[in-house]
Amino acid sequence: MPIGVLALQGDVREHIQLLTELGSSALEVKTADQLASCDALVIPGGESTTISKLLVNFGLMDPVKDFVSSKPVLGTCAGLILLSEEVVGRRPDQQLIGGMPITVERNAYGGQTHSFEAQVDFTEVTESAAFIRAPRIADVKGCDVIARLGDEPVAIRHANVFGATFHPELTGAKELHRQFINAVESA
Ligand code: GLN
Repeated sequence: MPIGVLALQGDVREHIQLLTELGSSALEVKTADQLASCDALVIPGGESTTISKLLVNFGLMDPVKDFVSSKPVLGTCAGLILLSEEVVGRRPDQQLIGGMPITVERNAYGGQTHSFEAQVDFTEVTESAAFIRAPRIADVKGCDVIARLGDEPVAIRHANVFGATFHPELTGAKELHRQFINAVESA
């Protein structure tokens, strides 16, 4: 079964392209039926309050919460914020999906003009990635750190739930998706 990419907002096409380049079949997910046909889900970056409202409006909030409890999920940037159990700077009208027992701080590096590209270190490789109004992982709470920016954790894993504060799809960085696909294949 394919890997779904939540297609409510964000770099949907770029994530599908990255997954396809790595040999996976990928499809857009906008409905609960499409979600049910997937083995795994990618939640792209964008704006986490907007995505949260769209999840509710599209009837996907509860199906995605169920999905995270049993299948592999990768959230990048806003996607990671939505998967976190605790968000510093959360707007009161933002509902979280949850599933990852971490604390993140929204917009921790500043606004759009403080966005930057930087090298992130995985165990095996170093890749360039884009940080756009990125959150910071304030407390990893026992999750595995899979990539760092200097000393800071920027990609983590909790069982089969993966998250990153950056956008790998904009620079063609492949390692995060590669590790995610490995987890999907062994799930
Ligand atoms: N700061 C945004 C938010 O809170 C996330 C930015 C992004 O996904 N590039 O949703």
